[in-house]
Amino acid sequence: MPTAEEVRAEVKAWLEDNWDPDLTVAQWWDVLARSGYAAPTFPTECWGKGWTRDLAMAVNETIAQCGAVGPPAGLGYLLAAPTIVAHGNERQHRNDLLRILNGQDAWCQLFSEPGAGSDLASLGTKAVKDGDEWIITGQKVWTSTAQLSNKGMLLARTDPDLPKHTGITYFEFDMRQPGVEIRPLREMTGRALFNEVFIDGARVHDDDIIGRVNNGWAAANTTLMAERAGLGTGGSGGAGNAFPGPLARQLDDRVGDHVGQVRTGGTGGGGVAAAQRLVKLAQELGRNADPNVRQKLAKLYTLQQLGRFSTLRAKSPSQRTGGEPNIAKLMMSDLLRLQRELGNEIIGAHGMIVGSDTPGGGFVQEVTLFSPGPSIYGGTDQVQRNILGERVLGLPKEPGPDKNTPFRELLVNR
Ligand SMILES: Cc1cc2nc3c(=O)[nH]c(=O)nc-3n(C[C@H](O)[C@H](O)[C@H](O)COP(=O)(O)OP(=O)(O)OC[C@H]3O[C@@H](n4cnc5c(N)ncnc54)[C@H](O)[C@@H]3O)c2cc1C
Repeated sequence: MPTAEEVRAEVKAWLEDNWDPDLTVAQWWDVLARSGYAAPTFPTECWGKGWTRDLAMAVNETIAQCGAVGPPAGLGYLLAAPTIVAHGNERQHRNDLLRILNGQDAWCQLFSEPGAGSDLASLGTKAVKDGDEWIITGQKVWTSTAQLSNKGMLLARTDPDLPKHTGITYFEFDMRQPGVEIRPLREMTGRALFNEVFIDGARVHDDDIIGRVNNGWAAANTTLMAERAGLGTGGSGGAGNAFPGPLARQLDDRVGDHVGQVRTGGTGGGGVAAAQRLVKLAQELGRNADPNVRQKLAKLYTLQQLGRFSTLRAKSPSQRTGGEPNIAKLMMSDLLRLQRELGNEIIGAHGMIVGSDTPGGGFVQEVTLFSPGPSIYGGTDQVQRNILGERVLGLPKEPGPDKNTPFRELLVNR
């Protein structure tokens, strides 16, 4: 295994030979994906380098320092790719993974349903066998970026006579087919990030099962752990970004025009940059002499650094003690709330006005309106604490029906 310094030198030399801002986004992502630097932690047979998280961080930092665009944004890269690495077959490794890493496909996550969120294993969307295909019927909700995705990570119930965790299958689902209707849901931010997805008689082929029939829960857990680890504080890769897939219509853009564009997908934990932004705002408004504001700014900065270290530990197998992705995600929710409180304390009554001509250019209002989201998606704060209690601290499980009860016999709240 090379050292981090060797990796930095290797990537820098590679970028000098290969980074060309005049390529299209699609061309650049293809070069990056085939080099192994788009996902260095993946095994070599999965378009990676088989490197540790620490070395992957060195790759990401070097790409950013050299002013090049990083791998595709979105849930394909963050969630579907690690799931396919862990549970996919050879064809999925060879073709489908490459199409995520080179941005040809954009994915959304078809997990939550009106009656299945925290208790995801209660999902009721049905998949019924028909020859070598499955017919899918059901409803998904809160599906982020469904309107921009051509592929979905679909969890569906394939055997209601099995206990709820064991009768689920994980499908690679074609979003653009008859029987799929996507309806946007407007959020209080004013945007429509997520959607309802109605599925009525859509089809999936046997070849598009990820993992095995009725074993989708194992693959779903890989997705959820990737989501928690990826959503924690700290950041990654590239001096710019673009959205993948044919529907976002960015693949034919000049890649150099995407340098300097921030990653899509929410406000996140904000990273150290958010604390610095609030320091600047406090200075501009003369609030930096207020001892309360100063103390909270120092607290925010300290917690952000601790959050970053926790995320680094979560990404480094030798340093793990257990529960790091859950802790990192809880910290992100806390940090965003602190940013919201502090930001509003600094800007005062301006916080009631939405618009870019207020102090901070609308940054505090944006954080305020988005701040409830991270404590819900990827598993709520309460669910993270339950997981830590039960799986890390060994506390008794929550009372509930016998885990061997067939799904069909469970009481459901619909
Ligand atoms: C911005 C955003 C984006 C999202 N994107 C996606 C997406 O792309 N794909 C997708 O599939 N889903 C997505 N979701 C949905 C998200 O995963 C669910 O909202 C989440 O899992 C919670 O489920 P629920 O909304 O049904 O709430 P419920 O599960 O009904 O929970 C309601 C409340 O009860 C609490 N609660 C529930 N069970 C317990 C328990 N056992 N112990 C203690 N408290 C409990 C919860 O913490 C919560 O406060 C997104 C959500 C948001 C906010």
